[in-house]
Amino acid sequence: MLKQWIQEAKHTVIFTGAGMSTESGLPDFRSANQGLWRKKNPSKIASTDALNNNVEEFIAFYRQRVLGVKEYKPHKGHHILADWERKGIIQSIITQNVDGFHQLAGSARVAELHGTLQKLHCQVCGREYDSTEYVHKDYHCECGGILRPNVVLFGESLPEEAFQLALQDTEKSDLFIVLGSSLSVTPANQFPLIAKENGAKLVIVNQEETQMDLYADKVIRNKKIGELLQELDQEIRVK
Ligand code: NAD
Repeated sequence: MLKQWIQEAKHTVIFTGAGMSTESGLPDFRSANQGLWRKKNPSKIASTDALNNNVEEFIAFYRQRVLGVKEYKPHKGHHILADWERKGIIQSIITQNVDGFHQLAGSARVAELHGTLQKLHCQVCGREYDSTEYVHKDYHCECGGILRPNVVLFGESLPEEAFQLALQDTEKSDLFIVLGSSLSVTPANQFPLIAKENGAKLVIVNQEETQMDLYADKVIRNKKIGELLQELDQEIRVK
């Protein structure tokens, strides 16, 4: 049935969360077994408050996250989505992930609602750097300002351009597929509802129950995202 919906849809939007990248080896935030949130209190460290008042701890946390992400790479599922975009099977991706894996896999139209760990910028002059800068000990820009990752911190609003892109594509969608998100982070979790209100079919693929499941036309819990995408890809090729 999902294969048929994908083939019939005119505008399919994929919405991804941390569960999209667990099969690359990156832990998600909230899953019961090994979520990252259980080790640190993110609202304290990943915040504007920490950046301004506790910069050493802030940098240590993000250095660890940046280096962590660089140890992994996109998996087969990320590559299938990029291939589907090239073939016109899907139109775009909206992601809450900050790992940059969709672009690394070759996806072009990606709205990164929470920014990316792949880039840093200077708090003072705004100059952008690749996050490999964090591999070196120093975290200062040439101008002396502090280098921070291009991610949305607690206490900041979402990047306007990504938000508008996501909104525009959500409103156009007639099929909206959530992959690996607990849908508990606002405002990102409003996009599936906006899609549904605009008449799109809503599909939620997530190992655990989400608070939006009751609005979905189809919920898939018993399959890992990578496995499901590979199966669908095979079926779509055969037709
Ligand atoms: P979340 O951790 O709240 O939820 C992830 C969900 O994915 C869980 O409910 C889990 O059951 C499911 N899941 C995990 N692996 C799966 C798989 N292989 N197949 C199917 N389902 C799977 O994540 P969220 O909703 O994205 O919200 C967390 C916040 O954390 C976001 O704001 C995001 O920016 C950030 N985050 C990003 C990354 C990343 O960039 N990779 C990693 C951790 C957290």
